[in-house]
Amino acid sequence: MDAPLVIVGTGFAGYALLRALRQRDRHREVHLIGADEAAAYSKDQLPAGLAHRRDADELVIATAEQMAYRFEATITPHRRVLAIDPASRTLRTDSPAQAEQAWSQLVLATGADSVRPANVRGSAAASVLTVGSLAEYAYLRSELAGRGRVAVVGGSIRGCELAESLKRGGCEVTLLEPDPRLLGGSVPALCAERIAAALTAAGVRIRIEDGVQRIDQGMHELHVTTLGGKPLAVDVVVAAQGTRPRVQLARAAGLDVAAGIVVDAAMRTSAGTIHALGGCAEFEGRVFELGEDIEAGAQVLADVLAGHGARMRWKARVRRLNLECCAVAICEPPPGAGEWYESATARGVRALFHDRAGALRGFALVGDPAGESGSLLGRVAR
Ligand SMILES: Cc1cc2nc3c(=O)[nH]c(=O)nc-3n(C[C@H](O)[C@H](O)[C@H](O)COP(=O)(O)OP(=O)(O)OC[C@H]3O[C@@H](n4cnc5c(N)ncnc54)[C@H](O)[C@@H]3O)c2cc1C
Repeated sequence: MDAPLVIVGTGFAGYALLRALRQRDRHREVHLIGADEAAAYSKDQLPAGLAHRRDADELVIATAEQMAYRFEATITPHRRVLAIDPASRTLRTDSPAQAEQAWSQLVLATGADSVRPANVRGSAAASVLTVGSLAEYAYLRSELAGRGRVAVVGGSIRGCELAESLKRGGCEVTLLEPDPRLLGGSVPALCAERIAAALTAAGVRIRIEDGVQRIDQGMHELHVTTLGGKPLAVDVVVAAQGTRPRVQLARAAGLDVAAGIVVDAAMRTSAGTIHALGGCAEFEGRVFELGEDIEAGAQVLADVLAGHGARMRWKARVRRLNLECCAVAICEPPPGAGEWYESATARGVRALFHDRAGALRGFALVGDPAGESGSLLGRVAR
């Protein structure tokens, strides 16, 4: 019997691909392996879950067993893939009972790790939490039981969403951002200022140009010393400083890796029989971050694995931030030369990014202008 198609990863990308495969072929043998509980859930619901104090179980859309039944696949949770061998088309896992697994085609959908603040000293430096998975969400919720002073480190999109959600969930929140403004790489200055003002009005304490220098364990709390030397007493420190693609398996197997596992327009890695999708993968110099792009990649890959020609193309997308305090819609411009033009009124900020030829390539809208994102998207050149 032929070896199955194996997908390493049971997150958003792994399950998006499984669904796309089943739309085309109900019979092909597919095996998914996940290092975690392999439950289907949506990470974009984690901030709202914190705001509404939901248990992790309440965020599960389907368990591994339910997904296996619904999509007629073998799903193995709590199993970590340790190595892949493109030459023999096998992989090795941490299971003593079934260490080796053969595959006919392999898809790496291993996602990304949360970045932790570097060079933090102190007796509780290792206590920094992240919210990159359901298990981490559950752990943060347990750490917050009966306590509520939180330092969020990193004013990224996720950091701002997390800070506001925790505040809405009843916590006292301080947001520390080492750079001179929030959302540094994603929006220009006036937009960032307006978002910071809205978060402040919502009760989030923001410290710009400050980060964490050390964390020491006190009797009942954590003593944070900021980079600016200020003391801060909190119960929990959460990092939200972005993510880094999980590329270790691919790198050890000799596949091309840049920031992520490099794939071509057919989602194929430098080893022809291995594909990659989701937060671990990089196409045309960009890592997959948005659910819509991962979904598009899954459709392409399902066609390719079914023997049809299909090609991945980046599309202009609107990212709507999960913030209650103000509406924010961002269409991130592609890398390349250009300039932001911002205009602000009392009702909001509109920032348009034009390239050197004058073409609209992206935008950021805060407040009332966020309602124009649909019509503006149609004018963005790609
Ligand atoms: C708090 C938060 C909020 C977000 N909000 C949004 C949003 O609003 N909109 C949006 O578009 N995106 C959002 N995202 C991003 C989006 O969730 C990710 O892009 C998406 O989850 C990536 O899917 P993935 O399958 O690549 O990775 P993951 O969902 O992380 O899945 C990775 C899988 O790989 C498995 N794995 C890893 N290594 C191994 C191994 N060695 N062996 C076996 N299994 C392994 C893991 O167990 C897991 O099953 C958010 C992310 C977070 C963390």
